[in-house]
Amino acid sequence: MREAGRIVAIAHEEMRQAIAPGVSTKRLDTIASSVLREHGAEPCFLGYAPGDHPPFPATITASINSELVHGIPSDSRILQAGDIIGLDVACFYQGMVGDAAFTHAVGEISRSAQRLLDSTSAALAAAIKASVLGNRISDVAKATAKTAGRAGYSVALQYTGHGVGYSMHEEPQVPNWWHSKKGQMQWQDYDLAVGMTYAIEPMLIAGRPDLEELDDGWTVVTKDGSLTAHFEHTVAICEDGPWILTLP
Ligand code: MG
Repeated sequence: MREAGRIVAIAHEEMRQAIAPGVSTKRLDTIASSVLREHGAEPCFLGYAPGDHPPFPATITASINSELVHGIPSDSRILQAGDIIGLDVACFYQGMVGDAAFTHAVGEISRSAQRLLDSTSAALAAAIKASVLGNRISDVAKATAKTAGRAGYSVALQYTGHGVGYSMHEEPQVPNWWHSKKGQMQWQDYDLAVGMTYAIEPMLIAGRPDLEELDDGWTVVTKDGSLTAHFEHTVAICEDGPWILTLP
C-alpha cells in the first residue's frame, strides 16, 4: 500500500505542476495515467461502475469549483484563472490500493476560495491526527466536522472516506460528520486498531450541503452553486501513530 500510495503521490505532484489557466482536465488525466503506467500501476477509477453508474471513463476525477467530486476529465473543460480544481487518483499496485485527492488553485484565486482550501486541508490534518489507538472512527469523523464547523463550512453528508487495501472501497466508512440523532444517517463505529488502513476525505462546502448528480451519471455538484473542496490521504493505523501512505 505504501508503494501504491507513493505512485499516487507522484501522479498528484506531476499534475500539480501542470495546473495553469488554459490547461484541460483531460491533459491532467493523461499526465496521471502516464505516471501510473510508468510505475506498473493500474488506475482504480477507469471502468469503475458501482450501482447504476456508467463505467467511469478516466484515470482521475477532476472537479472544478461547485463540483464536489467525480468530475469527468474532458478536452473541453479548460481551467480558468480563479478556479479551484479537485483531483482524485487511486491506483492498484501489486494487488494493493493507494488513494488520495487534493484541491488546487488555478492562478490567482479569491481569499474566500483560499480559505476554503486551507480549511479543508486543516480538516484532513485534524482527522489524521485523531487516527490514533484509543480512538474510534467516530472520533476521526468528529475531528473533520469540528474543523469544518468552526470555519463556518458544511460537509458533504452522504459522501464518506472508506477503508482501503485490497480494493478501493472496504469497511469501515469514514464519514465527515457523526450524529447520534434518530433518523440521521448512521455508520458503524469501530475501535481503531493497528493495521487498519483507510482513506480520510473531507469534502467542505462554502454554502448549503445539498448536492445533486449531473446527467453524466457521475459529477456531483452543489445545488446552490457554492464552492467545494476535497482533500484525501490514505493512512495506516500504527503503534506510533498514523502513517500517511500517500506522501511522495
Ligand atoms: Mg480518492
